[in-house]
Amino acid sequence: MTGTGPQAQGAPATIVAGAPAVPSPRVGPGARRAAGPGVTEGPDHSGRPGAPTEQAWNTVVGAIRRASSVDLVCHVMPDGDALGSALATGLALRSLGSEVRVSFGDDPQIVPGSLEFLPGQDLLVPAAAVPDRPELMISFDVADAHRLGLLRDKAEAATALVVVDHHASNGGFGTHQLIDPAAPATAVLVDELLRRLGVPLDREIATCLYTGVATDTGSFRYAATTPATHELASRLLATGLRHDLISRRLWDTQSFGYLKVLAAALDRAELDREAAAGLGLVWTTVPHADLLAHGVLPEEIEGLIDVVRKASEAEVTLVLKEDPDGTLRGSSRAKGAVDVAAACAALGGGGHAYAAGFTSHDSVADTVARFRAALAPTGPRP
Ligand code: MN
Repeated sequence: MTGTGPQAQGAPATIVAGAPAVPSPRVGPGARRAAGPGVTEGPDHSGRPGAPTEQAWNTVVGAIRRASSVDLVCHVMPDGDALGSALATGLALRSLGSEVRVSFGDDPQIVPGSLEFLPGQDLLVPAAAVPDRPELMISFDVADAHRLGLLRDKAEAATALVVVDHHASNGGFGTHQLIDPAAPATAVLVDELLRRLGVPLDREIATCLYTGVATDTGSFRYAATTPATHELASRLLATGLRHDLISRRLWDTQSFGYLKVLAAALDRAELDREAAAGLGLVWTTVPHADLLAHGVLPEEIEGLIDVVRKASEAEVTLVLKEDPDGTLRGSSRAKGAVDVAAACAALGGGGHAYAAGFTSHDSVADTVARFRAALAPTGPRP
C-alpha cells in the first residue's frame, strides 16, 4: 500500500507547517487530542501505519495552494462518497478562490436521483470540458484508473494527479496518493484535507461530506465505523444540515418501477448453501430488459444488493446487473468470513474485503461459477 513512508515517529498529532497556526473554528477543543494508550485517534489521518504521511499531506496541500486551476473527478456511476467528496472539495476550493471543475467520466453524465440534493452541482462539467492536460487533477474514491471512464486519458496526462481514496485494492496510481484503507469513507480524508487547507465546514460542504460518510458506512452501521466517524458526524451535524432529509433521499426513496425490478430480482434469487466452503452464497441477476420494462435507470439498482444480502443463510451475496450490451456488472458483499475483494480480483475486479465488484463478458451461469470458485473463507464467521 502507498503512504507507508516515514511516519511521524509516533508523535502526537501537531499542527503542521502549512496549516493555520490557529486552529480553525471547526477544530474544537479535544478534536485533535493526542492518541495515547487506549485513546482513539481523532480525525487526524497521519502517524498511523497505512495512513498518508505528514509529508504526503503537506505536498498535496502545497500543490493545491499553488495551482491556478484544479479538476476534481470521481469514479463513473458515482455513489454518495465519490460525488460528495468531489463536490465538498469543489465548494471548499472555490471558497479559496481557485478555478475549479468537478466531473466524472460517464457519457451521458447522470447524477443519480438519490444524490440530486447535493450542493455544489453548478461546479459539474462534462468530461469533454475537462482540459486535455489538467494542471492539477484530484480523484476521489477511485480505486483504479479504469474507474475514471472517459477521464482516464486526461488524468494520465495531468501534470499532477492526486489520488484520494480508501479502497484497500488501490494500487497507487497517480503522482501523489492520499490513501487510507482504514478510513470508512473517502469523505473522511476530504475532511482532513479541508482542515489542513484551513477551510471551515459550512452547511453545504458538510452536507456533501455527511452524504459520503453515511453512504459508505451504511448509515454508521458497518464495521469500519469508529468513534472518530461519529465525532466527524457530530461536527457535520453542528452546521445545521438536515440529516433526516439526507437519509430519506439516500435510503427511503425509490420509484415504483424500482420496487417491481426488486421483486423480480428477489423472485429470481438462488441460495447456494455449499458455496464458500459451506458458508453460503445468495445470488441473483437483473436483466437489462427488467430496467426497460419498468423505466428504471442502472444507477437506481445499486442498492438492490442491500436487500438480497439480508439472507441469513449466506455469507456472500452476488448481484449481476446486465448492461445494454450484455456486459454483466457484478457486485458482491460478505459478512466478515470471506474476502470478496480477493474473489472479485480473480475475475479482474476489486474493492473492499466486505464489498467488491467486477465486470464479466461471460454468461450469467459461467460468471456465477467463476465467482463461486474464487470464494475462500478467511476466518471464523463472526
Ligand atoms: Mn467510498
